[in-house]
Amino acid sequence: MDALSCALLPASCTLCGSPLPQLSTVPICDCCWTEFPVQSGPSCARCGDTLAMPMLASGEAPTELCRACRLAPPPFVRAVAFGLYQDRMKAAIHALKYDRLHPAAQGLGQMLAQAIAQLAAEAPSEMLVVPVPLHRSKHAERGFNQARSLATVALEALRKTHPEWRLKLASSTLMRLRATESQAGLTPRQRRLNVRAAFSVPDPTAVAGKHVLLIDDIFTTGATARAASQALVRAGAASVFVATLARARLVHESSRGAFFDGAEDNSTNSPAATVQPASIYSSQDQPSF
Ligand SMILES: [Zn+2]
Ligand SMILES: [Zn+2]
Repeated sequence: MDALSCALLPASCTLCGSPLPQLSTVPICDCCWTEFPVQSGPSCARCGDTLAMPMLASGEAPTELCRACRLAPPPFVRAVAFGLYQDRMKAAIHALKYDRLHPAAQGLGQMLAQAIAQLAAEAPSEMLVVPVPLHRSKHAERGFNQARSLATVALEALRKTHPEWRLKLASSTLMRLRATESQAGLTPRQRRLNVRAAFSVPDPTAVAGKHVLLIDDIFTTGATARAASQALVRAGAASVFVATLARARLVHESSRGAFFDGAEDNSTNSPAATVQPASIYSSQDQPSF
């Protein structure tokens, strides 16, 4: 199988184009694997969004909430991500989703495991792990759910690093009722309305009283994580935590009432904080679509 994959995959790095020293099943060079953009600085204690205001002495746990979480507390306890959805991370996720580069799920799944491990101290010792599902039409088109692929690899890694943590993959817990991929050009508010009631729990007895870890590849506006968490909580889940591979930094909307219209909570000044609207709102950037 390995020999076959080698023959089919290019001998240069998919992300940076540099030649690979040896044939590999994953056409991403060692250098690229170490240079995925990570999030730094103060972040919201609930959703993990970057906060602009320095609030606490270093070493202290973040206790501040971003504006979105203050105005409308999310149905999940806490959301964590490994890194930022830009540069190599963005290219690697695109390679996985759109070029069906399955071997990339191995490396990315390890990163997801690191994101999940951030929750080890506070999350319950036993959780159902639920990948955000694709709508069946999207699933049929892509042939696989990248959130599930990533979750599978991450759980395998966590069984070794955190053997006492009982995480059980429960992929069929959530169902996506509507195809909501056409979010391009929508404001954050419209996106929330678009994904509202997009999810259901076919068998509520499977989640009643259980703690749930929701998994997705990208956290954009949080609308998907909120909608999916809401469905789980309504079905009786005791708590929902969220772990994603990468977080998109948002361009702030000027419209009143939008979640991300406040400049005070998010670092809009640093160049790294600016994501092109065309990129952020293209349907390809949507989590799970
Ligand atoms: Zn590379
Ligand atoms: Zn927040």
